[in-house]
Amino acid sequence: MNNKGILVVVSGFSGAGKGTLMKELLSRYDNYALSISVTTRTPRPGEQEGVHYFYRTEEEFDQMVEQNAFIEYARYVKHSYGTPKTYVEQQLSAGKDVILEIELQGALQVKKSRPETLLLFVTPPSAQELRRRLVDRGSEEEDEINRRMARAVEESREMSSYDYIVVNDEVSSCVDDMHKIIQSYHTATGNQMELIKKMQKELKDMEEK
Ligand code: 5GP
Repeated sequence: MNNKGILVVVSGFSGAGKGTLMKELLSRYDNYALSISVTTRTPRPGEQEGVHYFYRTEEEFDQMVEQNAFIEYARYVKHSYGTPKTYVEQQLSAGKDVILEIELQGALQVKKSRPETLLLFVTPPSAQELRRRLVDRGSEEEDEINRRMARAVEESREMSSYDYIVVNDEVSSCVDDMHKIIQSYHTATGNQMELIKKMQKELKDMEEK
């Protein structure tokens, strides 16, 4: 029996509320591990090194790229972001379902190199609501908000590359939806593994008769 956890990518427009959803998902269930990314952007007020991100210089980031230390990495707006390999591998081996909260280009890289990855995309119910949430967050200047909205336009074209789209209208029910999707994916992939093993054994036994 394969007890490895599954890799889950959660993407969504900046301002879709992914951070809040992840916090709630992790506090409710103990089978998840959240990967902490490396970024070259500066911390927002209240963010901490090693909790929200590992904050590194562009040079340090490039060095990690050279050392092949990332599962994926991408530029987003004006900064680089990457998922360190080691933690993800450790947690998957320990049977945890590992969540990568990353943007589109990274998500597609992961799906290409690990096709068994589950891709979820979180969206607010409307574009108007998305803009409202970005403004309410109050941590970005107007032109940064506009850049993020422009990026959302691009990202919306690729929403269909994801396995599931989750609407974040109300945090609690959205977390329920995500948990159900992830757990049923577990069962589905687990069942497939069992079925593959069963068929392989039966065919081999038949051949030997
Ligand atoms: P923020 O600056 O708002 O924290 O993040 C900007 C975007 O970068 C978000 O869409 C976030 O999901 C994404 N992001 C965070 N970490 C990573 C990462 O390691 N890789 C990639 N590809 N995107 C990331």
